[in-house]
Amino acid sequence: MIECQNLVKIYKVADELEVMALQGLDLTVDKGELMGIIGSSGSGKSTLLNMLGGLDRPSAGKLIIDGKNLLQMSDKALVQYKLETVGFVWQNNARNLIPYLTARQNVELPMLLKGKRKKEWATELLELVGLGNRLNNRLSELSGGEQQRVAIAIALANKPQLLLADEPTGNVDTKTADIILDLFRKLNRELGVTIVIVTHDMQLTQKMDRVVAIRDGRTSSEILSRKYFDEAIIDDSEYEQEHSHV
Ligand code: ADP
Ligand code: MG
Repeated sequence: MIECQNLVKIYKVADELEVMALQGLDLTVDKGELMGIIGSSGSGKSTLLNMLGGLDRPSAGKLIIDGKNLLQMSDKALVQYKLETVGFVWQNNARNLIPYLTARQNVELPMLLKGKRKKEWATELLELVGLGNRLNNRLSELSGGEQQRVAIAIALANKPQLLLADEPTGNVDTKTADIILDLFRKLNRELGVTIVIVTHDMQLTQKMDRVVAIRDGRTSSEILSRKYFDEAIIDDSEYEQEHSHV
C-alpha cells in the first residue's frame, strides 16, 4: 500500500539553518497490516507520519501510496487524498475535542454530512469503538482512554483506508493503552483498515504485525538487536531480572 524510497525531509529552521528530519528513509507498508514505528524522540517518526498522511510534502525521494506518487500530486489532489483516504489519531487530542459537548456531538462536529445521517453515523462509530453507552455524556465526563476512543471514532468518520496514529497511548496508563491497542486491532480486522502506529511502548508492539525502528531519520535494521532495546526502550535492570533465570 505504501512505499517510501530514499525519502528525505528537510525543514528550514532559519535563514541558514536546516534540519534533515528524514535522511533517505526506506519503508513499505502492506495493505491490511497493523504496523508499529518506534524510535527515540527527534528520530523523525512524526515527520514520517505527516508525509504518509499528506499533511506535508517530502523534500526528495519516492512516496507512493496506492500507486499514486505523493510528490507529484497537485495541492488539490493531496488535500483530497488526506480527507478521503487517511484518518489521524494524535497523542493529545485536547485541541480537537470539545469538553462541554457530548461524545456524539464531538464526533458529529467534523463530519461533512447533514442531519439524521450524521447523527446515525456518529452513533454507529461510537458503538464501534465501544462507547455506545456514553453517547450523551459530555467529553469532560469521560476518562482519558474513553476520550481517546472518541478521537479514534472521529478518525474513522470518512472510512479511511489508512489510519495513522502518533503516540495514541502516550497520555493513558498501561492498562488503558493495552485496551486501545486491542481496539486498533479490532478495527484492523473488521474494517480491513491499514494502520500505522508510532509508539514508545515496547509492550504494545508485541501485538502488532510488524515493527520498524527509526533512527536519525532512517529505518534501522537494529530492531531485533539487544543493543537497541537496552538503549531505547527497556530499563536494563528489569531485563536482567526477567532473564537471569534462563
Ligand atoms: P519524533 O516524532 O521522532 O520525535 P520529529 O519528526 O518530530 O521526531 O522530528 C524530527 C526532527 O525534525 C527533529 O530534529 C525536530 O526538531 C525536527 N522538526 C520536526 N518538525 C519540524 C518543523 N516543523 N520545523 C523544523 N524542524 C522540525
Ligand atoms: Mg513525534
